[in-house]
Amino acid sequence: MTTTPAAADGNLFIVAAPSGAGKSSLIRALLERHNDGSMQVSVSCTTRAPRPGEIDGVHYHFLDVDTFQRKIEANAFYEWAKVFDNYYGTSRVVIEETLKQGIDVFLDIDWQGARQVRDAYPQAQSIFIVPPNLQVLEQRLRSRGQDSDDTIRARMAKAQTEMSHYHEFDYLLVNGDFTDTLANFEHIVMARRQRIALQQQRHAAKLKDLLANDE
Ligand code: 5GP
Repeated sequence: MTTTPAAADGNLFIVAAPSGAGKSSLIRALLERHNDGSMQVSVSCTTRAPRPGEIDGVHYHFLDVDTFQRKIEANAFYEWAKVFDNYYGTSRVVIEETLKQGIDVFLDIDWQGARQVRDAYPQAQSIFIVPPNLQVLEQRLRSRGQDSDDTIRARMAKAQTEMSHYHEFDYLLVNGDFTDTLANFEHIVMARRQRIALQQQRHAAKLKDLLANDE
């Protein structure tokens, strides 16, 4: 007898890090390893200007400030924050619909947004990523070749502020060796997928069969 397992909600993962810690690359690499539709990264809205190569609807939904503020008033954001003088926010309906379909969702957001998501959805698991040291962080920011010296100095200062919130998170990844960090990141995600509440829903029929002769 085949039984269709009851749909179980996807897992919500908050991933935060100072800019240059390797967060986007780690999320992208994990999604490439699991390209079966079981996980997605949320595309945020922002009022900042696109950087060279960034595509509207792929990297961000680029909005003007008026449109962003109207969305705040309409309660359209799951969370939003002002980061580096620009607004950033996560669309509520997209997150809720995606989780309902049983798909894991990654939120690449800052510590302020992370706090709001934890309050709204305590089951969310939060992961903080740091670079191995400040020299590596600066090198990574410079190698992007997209920001001026002033911007890099400002980002280094903001990185310290962002990192001071690491202890609010469930997990801490130190991204020295990319392959090792990716493996640890994947372990966190895979462990979360095996938790009892989800497995009971997914494998209800199998568990019933296994326990058929239990007194
Ligand atoms: P960037 O401008 O370099 O793409 O992102 C700057 C910071 O804003 C990063 O720390 C990034 O994680 C954060 N960020 C991006 N999208 C969101 C969002 O939707 N909400 C919040 N709170 N932060 C975001």
